[in-house]
Amino acid sequence: MINEREARRQIVEVGKWLYNKGLVAATDGNLSIRLGDRIITTPSGVSKGFLKENELVIVNSKGEKVGGSGKPSTEVKMHLAVYKIRPDVNAVLHAHPPKSIAFTIAGVSLTQCVIPEVVVTIGAIQTTPYATPSTDEVVQSINEPIKHTDVLMLDRHGSLTVGKDIYSAYMKLEKLEHAAEILIYARLLGNVKTLNKAEVDKLMELRESTYGLSNNILRCDSNQLASGSCSLNNSSSIGSSDISNEELSKIITQKVIEQLKNDTA
Ligand SMILES: [Zn+2]
Repeated sequence: MINEREARRQIVEVGKWLYNKGLVAATDGNLSIRLGDRIITTPSGVSKGFLKENELVIVNSKGEKVGGSGKPSTEVKMHLAVYKIRPDVNAVLHAHPPKSIAFTIAGVSLTQCVIPEVVVTIGAIQTTPYATPSTDEVVQSINEPIKHTDVLMLDRHGSLTVGKDIYSAYMKLEKLEHAAEILIYARLLGNVKTLNKAEVDKLMELRESTYGLSNNILRCDSNQLASGSCSLNNSSSIGSSDISNEELSKIITQKVIEQLKNDTA
């Protein structure tokens, strides 16, 4: 376990990464590190890009403040729930990665077997059912799926990534957003090729032996996904709309071309 001083330094450092990478805006997001039976977390209403080590708040396992002057983050309940459910987790990160959130708003599933790296490290990227931010609904929505994954999307809200330390939680978030970006480009180009079962089987076999990964993940083609609005959609569904992928790509491409023409005019 790291000491409190180091935890403060790490939260401030990763807060800057989140802000500089555009994974949070304004005062969005919250981070925490488990320190034995206490949790050190970000105060509410402060930009993660400009945090100071002495601004961080310490809470006990009930969420009661035991140190620091600010108010604990409004999503601290979600962090506490994760620590209770997952003894292997020592850091929790909630951010608002725009491209990943766009998928949940569009009702397009991120759970696709597409990018080998993501299939191996993250597995299925599930979206939990919509829950009003900062309420107990959020805790209820993540309670079950977080048992089987380190990466979740909160429908039309943000991401939840967890890890043995804050760097591991951050790297998963960066990978998630990068995957969303690649998928958007692929959709713009008009086609998303998915890995077949044999290709996924081979990747899963190599997880431990070759890639040295032993964390629990749900396979990208698992049938036990969270019952969120997006997770059960297949790669070709666009919410309840009747537009096909091809038609949607054409529309988007046309819009992009029009925009580029306007920009250069
Ligand atoms: Zn949020």
